[in-house]
Amino acid sequence: MHSGRHPADQYGFVNTPIYRGSTVLFPTLEDLTKRNARFTYGTQGTPTTEALETAWTELSGAAGTVLAPTGLAAIGLALLTAVKAGDHLLVMDSVYRPTRIFCDTILARMGVEITYFDPLVGAGLEALVRPTTSAIFLETPGSQSFEIPDVPAIAAVAAARGICTILDNTWATPLFFPPHVHQIDMAVEAGTKYLSGHSDLLLGLVTANQRWFPRLRATFDAFAMCAGPEDVFLCLRGLRTLELRLREAERQGLALAQWLSKRAEVVQVLHPALPSCPGHAIWKRDFSGSSGLFSVVLAPCSQAALAAMLDGLELFGMGYSWGGFESLVIPFDCRSYRSATVWNPPGPALRFSVGLEDIGDLEEDLDRGFARLRATAT
Ligand SMILES: *Cc1c(COP(=O)(O)O)cnc(C)c1O
Repeated sequence: MHSGRHPADQYGFVNTPIYRGSTVLFPTLEDLTKRNARFTYGTQGTPTTEALETAWTELSGAAGTVLAPTGLAAIGLALLTAVKAGDHLLVMDSVYRPTRIFCDTILARMGVEITYFDPLVGAGLEALVRPTTSAIFLETPGSQSFEIPDVPAIAAVAAARGICTILDNTWATPLFFPPHVHQIDMAVEAGTKYLSGHSDLLLGLVTANQRWFPRLRATFDAFAMCAGPEDVFLCLRGLRTLELRLREAERQGLALAQWLSKRAEVVQVLHPALPSCPGHAIWKRDFSGSSGLFSVVLAPCSQAALAAMLDGLELFGMGYSWGGFESLVIPFDCRSYRSATVWNPPGPALRFSVGLEDIGDLEEDLDRGFARLRATAT
């Protein structure tokens, strides 16, 4: 509530306003040549970006934060801070798909060798480490398939060899999983999701511990890949209600996951807080909450039956991204973007992002959807 705010510096107004700008004026030649000022140029930061960086650094228990225009840009900044040509990179098999594409194109082209690993490997990851391994990229839970990796066990393997650990922590946020407490060196958050909460902006944040922050900041400065001032302002505003919205997403998500687990059309619920999710025991040990994004596997059905269910939904929108106020659903099939593990469920899979609508209304919408699915299947 109070981090990153200085009302006395802005005539008492509660929120830091949107500072826009490239040029910052220096009063004297000496000030100009010595860059003797709190802010020196637009790419180096403004009071608005500094407010979000400061608040996020405090919340994350980090040494510092940089802001990027998107979550994916933040992932790129973290990876380019940790690896160079000739290095070996270990990447969890169920990372966000565009992370995988970044590794297989940009990093591969730079001469970085990449090995994907089973999210549930735990301390067994040691067997994949090479003398050239410089970083391990994790995401918890895994995108779409929701495996929970043993972050402390993997971080211990990394720490013993000075390997950098990077975590995409978008699902839990630092509120449910403080990354640096769990020995993560750099953590990424897509502010596009819960920090926004309203599906109307794109932003990424990278935090780092004392050891990695100077290098992260140098990478950021070299790219000058800055976030837009209005998106930064909206994230600062979202931050003030983040915990409240996340707790509600947790309550709604759990209620819907439990309701779905009792449906005959559903064969598996992949929600970290339910025992049917791979790695559930690790979630229980390490996390203080769950957010509103989870998946289910349906019993086998035709594409036409699935379309009948999804096309007629009134409250659940179909679209990418998540973490907004409205509920979303997308079908997914990660067979083509897994290489260390096999994704072969008996039927189609759906990912839900549960919004803030009335839970009874959401269940009725899905109940009618399942009726259409059954009617089309027979
Ligand atoms: C959406 C997402 C991102 C990327 O965020 P963008 O702002 O859309 O680029 C990264 N990681 C995870 C886990 C995401 O869900």
